[in-house]
Amino acid sequence: MYSSFLIKYGEIGIKGNNRHVFEDALCRRIREALKPLDGEFDIKKERGRIYVNCSGDWHYDETVTRLSRVFGIVGICPVVVLEASNFEALREGVVAYIGEEYPNSTASFKVKARRVNKSFEMKSMEIDAELGGAILEAYPSMHVDVHNPDILIDIEIREFIYVYSKIIPGPGGMPVGTGGSATLLLSGGIDSPVAGWMVAKRGVTLDAVYFHAPPYTSERAKQKVVDLAKEIAVYTGPIKLHIVNFTDIQLYIYDTCPHEELTIIMRRYMMRIAEHFAKENHSMGLVTGESIGQVASQTMQSLMTTNAVCTLPVYRPLIAFDKNDIVAKAKEIGTYETSILPYEDCCTIFVAKHPVTKPNLKTIEHSEMHLKEKIDDLFKEAIDTTEVIYVR
Ligand code: ATP
Ligand code: MG
Repeated sequence: MYSSFLIKYGEIGIKGNNRHVFEDALCRRIREALKPLDGEFDIKKERGRIYVNCSGDWHYDETVTRLSRVFGIVGICPVVVLEASNFEALREGVVAYIGEEYPNSTASFKVKARRVNKSFEMKSMEIDAELGGAILEAYPSMHVDVHNPDILIDIEIREFIYVYSKIIPGPGGMPVGTGGSATLLLSGGIDSPVAGWMVAKRGVTLDAVYFHAPPYTSERAKQKVVDLAKEIAVYTGPIKLHIVNFTDIQLYIYDTCPHEELTIIMRRYMMRIAEHFAKENHSMGLVTGESIGQVASQTMQSLMTTNAVCTLPVYRPLIAFDKNDIVAKAKEIGTYETSILPYEDCCTIFVAKHPVTKPNLKTIEHSEMHLKEKIDDLFKEAIDTTEVIYVR
């Protein structure tokens, strides 16, 4: 029945001169999201509206699923396109549409016509009244409610006539590419994929950095992170994933620094390396999945100590989220099942029995002085041996 979708997008931030930038980015993202599917999709921008016209061997469900993951889309309206040049043909088409979409319905409805093509034989208000009557006659169990209808039937009369009444919710947010770029510290856990998703939802393009520690962490742990990046890329488009071999730095810290400070010092090196790649990629900030008090390395004191090595802003969208809420979000966006696969993480292997929970910056900086001899070489080597994977 359907051959087209009307895409509704939010108004915030798109007014004024930037509107076309937003719309073009949204069209690009829609095109990219539908590209792997069978069928042809023509994405058209028309007077403040975006239409996706579908033809060939396309499938309704998978098209809707793909569209519902494009940030910037607030609603997806399946549209019936009628080639009706007079009211009689319009009436026939709309009555058939209602019968098919709402069989045996007892719902209330309202017709709202808009005549863009002024050569159509009837005015908008007349169309509303006449079509309302025709629907009542065809389906007497339905009734009209002009104030609070269950079903609002939109009719747009242009070259063709567009009929729609359903709005499938989209994810909201802004199209990726309109909000700058950031580098996500992506671990195999539950939190960081959600953090990346949230920032991307505001229109930010993502790169990612993963620290692994072979042979202490396995190929499967690495594959899990690649899989998580793929799951986020469904929403964000391609992600450049940097896989840093962190083993030698971790061992050196382990051999040289007080064990209760291992995690903090290690996290400071993660941030430094992530920032290196962020700057190389002209990224405007770092993103982590940290949340206040979740673990010893995420107390306010620990966050302050970790943050002290960064010059770029660090975005922590989950900072005030409870774990339950993060888990719910991970399930909603589809990363949870991968995140809970039981492969070890480099943080869990070199962990002290009693990590500091209130690290002192001066003390930590003093401990790091002991790394002076080899750390620069190890840092450089970690960067030089980093593997880059383009995840899509
Ligand atoms: P997550 O569930 O995302 O793994 P977590 O609760 O395990 O988080 P930490 O291990 O303290 O928390 O890590 C805090 C943040 O640091 C993570 O959310 C992530 O952004 C980053 N991070 C931790 N380990 C790694 C890693 N191996 N590679 C890349 N980033 C990491
Ligand atoms: Mg983790």
